[in-house]
Amino acid sequence: MYLGVDYYPEHWEKERWSVDADFMQKAGINVVRLAEFAWSKLEPEDDVYDFDWLDEVMDILNKRGAKVILCTPTAAPPIWLIEKHPDVLPLLRNGQRKAFGARRHYCITNRDYYYYSERIIKKLAEHYRDNPQVIGWQVDNEFGNPKCYCSSCRKEFQHWLKLRHKTLENLNQSWGNAFWSHDYTSWDQTPLPIVDHHNPAFDLDFRRFFSDVTVNYSNMQIKILKKASPEKFITHNFMGLFPDLNYYHLAEKYDFVSWDNYPQKLENRFHTALAHDVMRGLKKKNFWVMEEQCSYLTREDITATLSPGQMRLWTYQCYAHGAEAVVYFRWRACSFGMEQFCSGILQHDGTNKSISYKEAAQIGSEIHRIGPQFEGSRVVSPVAIIYDYDNIWANYSYQERPMYNYPDEILRFYKAIRKKGINVDIVKPTDELSKYKAVIAPLMYIVTDEAENNIKRYVEEGGIFIAGFRFGIKDIHSNMVKSVLPGKLKKLFGISIYTWDNLRGKKVEVKDDEGNIYQADTFADLITLKEAKPIAKYNSSWYTGHAAATVNTFGKGRAYYVGCGLPQSFYDRLIEKVLSPLILKSIKAPDEVEITTREEDNKRFIFIMNFSDKPSRIFLGEEYTELIKGKRLEGKIKLDPFEVLILERIGK
Ligand SMILES: [Zn+2]
Repeated sequence: MYLGVDYYPEHWEKERWSVDADFMQKAGINVVRLAEFAWSKLEPEDDVYDFDWLDEVMDILNKRGAKVILCTPTAAPPIWLIEKHPDVLPLLRNGQRKAFGARRHYCITNRDYYYYSERIIKKLAEHYRDNPQVIGWQVDNEFGNPKCYCSSCRKEFQHWLKLRHKTLENLNQSWGNAFWSHDYTSWDQTPLPIVDHHNPAFDLDFRRFFSDVTVNYSNMQIKILKKASPEKFITHNFMGLFPDLNYYHLAEKYDFVSWDNYPQKLENRFHTALAHDVMRGLKKKNFWVMEEQCSYLTREDITATLSPGQMRLWTYQCYAHGAEAVVYFRWRACSFGMEQFCSGILQHDGTNKSISYKEAAQIGSEIHRIGPQFEGSRVVSPVAIIYDYDNIWANYSYQERPMYNYPDEILRFYKAIRKKGINVDIVKPTDELSKYKAVIAPLMYIVTDEAENNIKRYVEEGGIFIAGFRFGIKDIHSNMVKSVLPGKLKKLFGISIYTWDNLRGKKVEVKDDEGNIYQADTFADLITLKEAKPIAKYNSSWYTGHAAATVNTFGKGRAYYVGCGLPQSFYDRLIEKVLSPLILKSIKAPDEVEITTREEDNKRFIFIMNFSDKPSRIFLGEEYTELIKGKRLEGKIKLDPFEVLILERIGK
């Protein structure tokens, strides 16, 4: 099993390389990511290459048994390239060129940039194609912003619009251009969204376009690397819940997804768990963590040094959710540059006395011993949550700020499920759903015809579907539907919604069918019952008389609608009731302890992680083998702060 570090040898004197490699070997580091951002060292002048330093450091690592992942350096074009082609610098929304001096300073549709990118990638790919030490490639670094608003991007956008809408009549209708005299009579009139208050349909298309051109640029790189060495894997370091690219599309041509995990604080553990599950869901397979936080980050007024045990805890959470390898960012804290306040496994002093080094060495010795036992096993989930980029973007409307925090709306349900030790898959609205006992769709504005049929079929055949508020309010162009809400699926839910309200700053009470009282938050759909039964009702002012949450029997299944934001206890109770047959009965644990399972053949690995800096207690109703300590465990067990257990069970 691989355990790795992100190493920037170009930041250190050559004499230091063998010292670093020795320290790595002693800590069990057996894979090293190299050459990210190193373009100015690999091609110091136009068409002049220097790979000698990289060969030299790779040789030093090879002698210590370390494999290498090489990066294409395209996230940081060098100054000579910018001087020759200043148009490579992206034009920002405010009309200013992004200046040279940070990173990601390139327009992703620029043809000159394609030319130089292809050339350096081909050179690297040819040089290392027969080198078995290089096991794989990372393309670029953290694709994403800035979006570019230059004339080349505008032309590309117009071309993209023509392919999508075919005729100007379609475009004008889809975008609702009758509003504010926005009708276009020629394709080259269509602008880029550089002013506020453009309409949501235009905004959604531009977001789709930006995602598509990023995918094109990424696919160009993949094609070159695959052609040179088909046996080496190709991946990219995704960014978890980053909202600005359709990650399903970006992931398609990669062999597997890897991602950069910076959880920062213990209270972010559900957020981090969800991000792992999103990453696993992109290709429905296990993933790598290519940058794992090892301690404090970037600014010392924002982040803190991880307490001893925390880095190890976060590492095991990666494995628990389907990671096949973890690579730490970064090997050694750099004394200069933008990230000089960012910790490494080694601190600036370069000694092996840091907390992170000691912990990496502990993880190294554990993971090489026990990792092969669960390597290749899968996270099998009985529950899925729909996660969809059109829905993320439709919620942005016409400004740079979303109306709702999409991950937060998911987390209301996700926390309740995870607290019961139930695994969760992340799916697209059109994925096959029949294998799931329950499917949840928070903040699903857009319901396409395909998604409508998929959800209907799923519930008819016995599935449990749970929707959050504002379900089905928009069409695929991000225009509001003209039917009674919740739109296409109101028969499924057995309800109608004629009225709603923004609850920010308001106090509205909700009472559930067991008499529990809650304060509703964020938003309220005021539900009129048709065939459905209420499970909670509004209990304040003019909201009284409307249902707040409902259940309806449809075919062999049930459809729930939760029409407002509610405190966590509501979701905890709902999930406990609805998913009770799925709850692991043999292990009892408090909320601060995460339980996640991986499976393979008839083996089950149960990861138990104490996300608290205080001791905790669990109860094991049967005997298990614990892999890390190699002990048999049963009954009452005390967990130390941040303690991790991996229980193995034969048979399900
Ligand atoms: Zn551009």
